[in-house]
Amino acid sequence: MSNKADIVIVGAGVIGLAVAAQVAREGREVYLLERNETFGQEQSSRNSEVIHAGIYYERGSLKAKMCLEGNGLLYELCEKNGIAYKKCGKIIMATSDVETEGLEKLYRKGEDNGVPLRMLSQRETDQLEPNVSGMAAFLCPTSGIVDSYALLRYFLGKARDNGAQIAYKTKVIGIERALGGYRVKVDDPSGGFSFMTRVVINCAGLYSDKVAEMAGINIDEANYKLHWCKGEYYSVSGGRNRLINRLIYPVPMAISVGVHVCFDVDWRLRLGPLFYYVNEISYKVDDSRKKALLESSIMKALPFIESSDLEPETSGIMAMLQGEGEGFRDFVIRHEYERGLPGFISLVGIESPGLTSSPAIARYVGHLLNEILES
Ligand SMILES: Cc1cc2nc3c(=O)[nH]c(=O)nc-3n(C[C@H](O)[C@H](O)[C@H](O)COP(=O)(O)OP(=O)(O)OC[C@H]3O[C@@H](n4cnc5c(N)ncnc54)[C@H](O)[C@@H]3O)c2cc1C
Repeated sequence: MSNKADIVIVGAGVIGLAVAAQVAREGREVYLLERNETFGQEQSSRNSEVIHAGIYYERGSLKAKMCLEGNGLLYELCEKNGIAYKKCGKIIMATSDVETEGLEKLYRKGEDNGVPLRMLSQRETDQLEPNVSGMAAFLCPTSGIVDSYALLRYFLGKARDNGAQIAYKTKVIGIERALGGYRVKVDDPSGGFSFMTRVVINCAGLYSDKVAEMAGINIDEANYKLHWCKGEYYSVSGGRNRLINRLIYPVPMAISVGVHVCFDVDWRLRLGPLFYYVNEISYKVDDSRKKALLESSIMKALPFIESSDLEPETSGIMAMLQGEGEGFRDFVIRHEYERGLPGFISLVGIESPGLTSSPAIARYVGHLLNEILES
């Protein structure tokens, strides 16, 4: 590594990789620093791999905008670059009177966000999904699934081709404002070193609040403190995958989109994520919360799945800005010049739908960067 960079990106998850692919080009020294041994070991490889359509988010929010734009961009880039995906669509299903009310509200929200949706009659639902049962449902044809590892590899390859340099086992441990930019201090197998950069882009996922703090942002005042929310998945055995044709979701009642049907591109079936807040990182999944899964709405919609079909599988931990019981929080993607940090871009709370939004977020950051470099 040279002792001076133009742009440093902290974190090689899907966001850091997409941003690196977007901003790297000839004549720019771009470094992507990742503390793990390789890319995409955290949120980006431990998720539902769903290409969301943009239904759930407050109108006009960055989440709604980035998700809608990302949805279109993602299908396009998967198609062009041979990344496996399925535009299988999804059905949101109410299984009680309360959920039916919620379903109507959600339908209006999705429509307000510009997502193409269709309310289904009982007959249509039975035709589309003869094995699924519920009281009311709508169809979202633009939801799908993507091979997230292939997507990460694509962004990595593009970033490298565009000239970005990637350093693994390199943990950012200090960011200090200095003349003309920032002095970044890292810890690596050589014992660590520091260097200058004009721009820092914080894509540190679960630790993006800590990285913001390193740069001198008061994360309590800025409302950047992250809460970790663990989501557990259960595999479903016994050929049950053949009984469902698309993603099936409940009406969301709490912190997330709810325990839902997940498929990977090979149509392997899982149920999850069953979310709860945690204070430490552990991806262990045991049977202890299986009862909550068995009592969830999705099980009512899938009467053919028995408790004995479900085995604890993987988990992921999400970087949430909202704490337990709190309301909607948007993605934070901003240039921090108002906080006296010109050239420092924060990306904090990039939880779901971050995977879907990744190409749109990269473009957005590209615009912020152009403003910085032109000023
Ligand atoms: C259970 C679950 C289900 C989800 N389902 C979906 C879904 O179906 N669809 C969807 O669109 N989104 C989904 N998401 C959200 C999506 O996975 C995330 O929004 C996205 O992966 C965030 O990517 P990231 O690059 O910001 O974070 P990460 O993938 O966590 O990457 C951040 C990187 O920063 C590195 N880092 C941190 N601190 C430092 C440091 N000091 N120095 C160097 N490197 C550092 C980390 O090691 C890590 O590699 C889900 C998330 C979870 C957890």
